[in-house]
Amino acid sequence: MTIPHASDVHAPESGAELRFVGADIPALADLANCIHCGFCLPACPTYIATGQELESPRGRLHLINSVVTGRTAVTDRLLGHLDLCLQCRACETACPSAVPYGRIMEDARAAIMANPARRQPRSWRLRSLVLRHVVAKPRVLRAALLFGRMYTRTGLQSLVRGSGFAARVLPAGLRRLESSAPVLDRRPFRRSGTLASPPSASARVALLTGCVHGELFPQMHEATVRVLARTGCEVVAPPAQVCCGALHSHAGDAEAARVLARRNIVAFEDAAVDAVIVNAAGCGAAMKEYGRLLRNDPTWAERAERFAASVRDALEFVASRDFAHGLGAVDGDVTIQDACHLAHAQRIREAPRTILRAIPGLRLREMETPDRCCGSAGLYSAVQSEMSATVLEAKMRDVAATGANVICTANPGCTLQLQAGVRRSGGDAAVRYVLELLDDSYRAGTPARAAD
Ligand code: SF4
Ligand code: SF4
Repeated sequence: MTIPHASDVHAPESGAELRFVGADIPALADLANCIHCGFCLPACPTYIATGQELESPRGRLHLINSVVTGRTAVTDRLLGHLDLCLQCRACETACPSAVPYGRIMEDARAAIMANPARRQPRSWRLRSLVLRHVVAKPRVLRAALLFGRMYTRTGLQSLVRGSGFAARVLPAGLRRLESSAPVLDRRPFRRSGTLASPPSASARVALLTGCVHGELFPQMHEATVRVLARTGCEVVAPPAQVCCGALHSHAGDAEAARVLARRNIVAFEDAAVDAVIVNAAGCGAAMKEYGRLLRNDPTWAERAERFAASVRDALEFVASRDFAHGLGAVDGDVTIQDACHLAHAQRIREAPRTILRAIPGLRLREMETPDRCCGSAGLYSAVQSEMSATVLEAKMRDVAATGANVICTANPGCTLQLQAGVRRSGGDAAVRYVLELLDDSYRAGTPARAAD
């Protein structure tokens, strides 16, 4: 075991020292759980890619501990090591000592962002600005995505991709960015209010429609609503709901995440539902952690815990219902890429498999390490595009070895990333949400019973 000394990254930097401040400083009790065994190292995509201790969970915990205990300041080099972490939480699953790595990393970032006098790196402040003023504001986000829609609709996107222009002319970074751009050729999902009200519904649920999700992948929401209705749920989408704040939390902007969480709690409480359904793994994981996010706010802490207990991932929810009636055949070889925030953060692995195995005609081809990150990780694929591409290449090799023609996942970011992986590797596999396949199966099967 080689744990570097904190002084290895304690090179003096220009300007005043940056330290952890505020209410979110990582707890020493959490850090003390680490027994330095190194079981997490082989699970960590950035350690696998670099072989560097400081790009491993154990190394990063050591750095964070050094800052918390005042042995080092937050240097640019240290920030680089924290920044390269995908926050995939595979290390949590691998850890025999229950180190809550995800919350330690989120707290560390929040304790850096809480510094006054704007001493954080410019890239962190910029990320926070984009998250606050674009991602969390539907009108601004839609305007920003207009460029993407024009890129698709004018045919320029197919021309660039079909002609090999990007490969010949663009530098590697821009080429990666271009190949990650979604194909925005569908009408966005912007519905709210009552989305479905089947006769004799046995549950009333609310759907989180999210920020980018309905804009980029409306078909996922449409399939989710139809499947929920088919399994006997009245489905509503509270009009006052907002972005869940997951990306803000991951980026260390805990304050913005708390503002969004409070607004969502009010919006969903007003809907008076049996469960809040989330079909994006990252959003679901964040909403299940609202209680912790608002733990220091006496007015909201209890309410947030109650709300968090009502959040269900859509796959977890559907798999728990009597869903396997009237299914028709869907031909295909399908492999599952477990979204990190489903498998590692929410510990849900069986539900997508239960659903896919129930669909006649589908053949499930498990890949090697389906729960290893695909390199998407929210904004990571944009800000750490090189490491993201390295992680994605490994993932696409695992996918190719299965021979599957459909890749299933449960998060819009993963969908975007895997689509880019398919394009870059010259393949033609479709990337789909599990409930889209279930919806196909219902359509190919017998109609819903009157009581359904
Ligand atoms: S969250 Fe993922 S990338 Fe970060 S240290 Fe853990 S396993 Fe590695
Ligand atoms: S597996 Fe857990 S206890 Fe072991 S080094 Fe990693 S974080 Fe520490």
